[in-house]
Amino acid sequence: RRRAARARADESAVTTDGTRIEVVANLGSVADAQSAVSEGAEGCGLLRTEFLFLDRAAPPDEAEQRATYQQIADTLGERPLIVRTLDIGADKPAPWLPMADEENPALGLRGIRLQLARRDLLETQFRALLGVEARGRLRIMLPMVAAADELREAHALLHRLAGERGVSAPELGIMVETPAAALTAETLAREAVFFSIGSNDLSQYALARDRTNPAVAAGLDGLHPAVLRLIDATVRGGRAHDRWTGVCGGLAAVPEAVPILIGLGVTELSVPAAAVAEIKALIRTLDLNYCRTLAARALTATDAAAVRALVEPLLEQAA
Ligand code: PEP
Ligand code: MG
Repeated sequence: RRRAARARADESAVTTDGTRIEVVANLGSVADAQSAVSEGAEGCGLLRTEFLFLDRAAPPDEAEQRATYQQIADTLGERPLIVRTLDIGADKPAPWLPMADEENPALGLRGIRLQLARRDLLETQFRALLGVEARGRLRIMLPMVAAADELREAHALLHRLAGERGVSAPELGIMVETPAAALTAETLAREAVFFSIGSNDLSQYALARDRTNPAVAAGLDGLHPAVLRLIDATVRGGRAHDRWTGVCGGLAAVPEAVPILIGLGVTELSVPAAAVAEIKALIRTLDLNYCRTLAARALTATDAAAVRALVEPLLEQAA
């Protein structure tokens, strides 16, 4: 089966009833872009830019950032690239960034909050991205958004910088990884052009389980109906303004989750490069209407185990 999936890795993933689902890759380095291309990814749905900022004495300047993003864009060629702005905080400390100790880093100054507190960092990263000449579509995505004003401020900054440079601003979207963002998706969709579900953090915050605490992290299950309801709310909120929703957290590469996510209306899955062929092969076995029925039942299921039980017959059939 694996060999059959690999043989068709470069073809697009279309459900049995003809709906195309974009399967793209998560990248965390320049080398990852090459693997994504060779594994059949249709682009990059999440470039984690932290790799450029950690383990060094000073943050990268605009020129260094631009050169690195340009290299990744060149490797992807005409494929689309979504770059996530810096997502660090007391949980991923950088030596050059003085930060107060935090009792709860996951609830602290991280993601977009840190970038708005250190606007110079966001501005440099935006400038670097505005200088990239990509053949494919380049989009920018903000991490950890929990309130409309965070998006509004970043959006205004990006548009001001683009105006100063005389270029048009890339599309700006957000990670939906806080329950607040999921529940206010319709409001955020006025300004965010797309959503990408960060299921790792969304599960952490919805289920109140620290993803870095081994005593509780094993119970972090994105198939918990509470998480699925947040994903459903996101898709619906986005649709009210014709915005698409993807998933870039680990859930996108979980076979039991794929039929449910598609059934909820997710149209893009961003997974580790090594999972691209297998996820595409799975999508080719799915009927969207049936996935919609399953997804509706999953939303009211008792727990994650009940959701898995709903999907298992489908996966056995596919195997
Ligand atoms: C997520 O939270 O699901 C996500 C994709 O972001 P990260 O894992 O980098 O926090
Ligand atoms: Mg996250």
